[in-house]
Amino acid sequence: MLSYRHSFHAGNYADVLKHLVQVRILNYFCQKDKPFCYIDSHAGAGGYELSSDHAQQTQEYQDGIQRLWQIEGLPESLQSYLEEIRAFNGSKELIRYPGSPTIAQQILRRQDKLWLYELHPTDYKILSDHCQEDRRIRCEQSDGFQGLIAKVPPLERRAVVLMDPPYELKEDYQRCITTLIKANRRFATGCYALWYPVVARERINKMEAELVASGIRNIQLFELGQSKDTETFGMTAAGMIVINPPWTLMQEMQQCLPLLAELLGKEGHGHFRCETLVEE
Ligand code: SAM
Repeated sequence: MLSYRHSFHAGNYADVLKHLVQVRILNYFCQKDKPFCYIDSHAGAGGYELSSDHAQQTQEYQDGIQRLWQIEGLPESLQSYLEEIRAFNGSKELIRYPGSPTIAQQILRRQDKLWLYELHPTDYKILSDHCQEDRRIRCEQSDGFQGLIAKVPPLERRAVVLMDPPYELKEDYQRCITTLIKANRRFATGCYALWYPVVARERINKMEAELVASGIRNIQLFELGQSKDTETFGMTAAGMIVINPPWTLMQEMQQCLPLLAELLGKEGHGHFRCETLVEE
């Protein structure tokens, strides 16, 4: 039984990092006319009202998107992320936050395709209603790990994959890595972006080590932390591991992450990582 609902967490600092990386990858892919497909293995509901009971109960967006909303003069790449959030709000006021499918829907062009997988019945219904009129989108209420494997290599031979599981099940940590390795074997040139939470550091160390040992080339890691690692329960940082990133991504994140760590860190404990795990 799935209980995770992203509506409790929409717009938090982990979403800021994830969607910043997503926007920068998709903007890069749009520089070439050639069509590509976007595969979102764990899509969520597609959009979230920040006035909802769920968002108000945790107020996580207050320490995330809300802190950036009014700031002027941010680096261009961070601005391009904020523009997507503003476009979804349609006004100067921050009232809602887009999910990854909506961000992709806003950026992708007529020639591109989106494949979205979401298992939770309530979130699937919201997502599929939202996407109904968009003929570029195929939405399935099925397992996103299996869906990804079935979709690669894509017809377009160009693809961006976002893998963003809730890690509600401990086996998700292993399934992500196994699925990425399998997908990469079938389609080695795809750009794969995996989101992870730092709840227990040793789990992330293990994921990194397995990817490094897999033989896959060109892997980068970007992490943003609100507070120091701890042994007690709770997420202290979140990261994105990107296989075959745009060549511009490292430099953009080197510019944005120190700033985000300062702006979104708790009591001066913000921290970040920008690392090449495996060279090209
Ligand atoms: N990617 C979304 C975004 O950035 O807006 C948020 C996704 S949320 C972190 C993870 C979602 O995955 C949840 O909505 C959950 O119901 C769904 N989910 C969990 N296991 C899944 C699976 N095996 N296949 C597809 N969806 C799954």
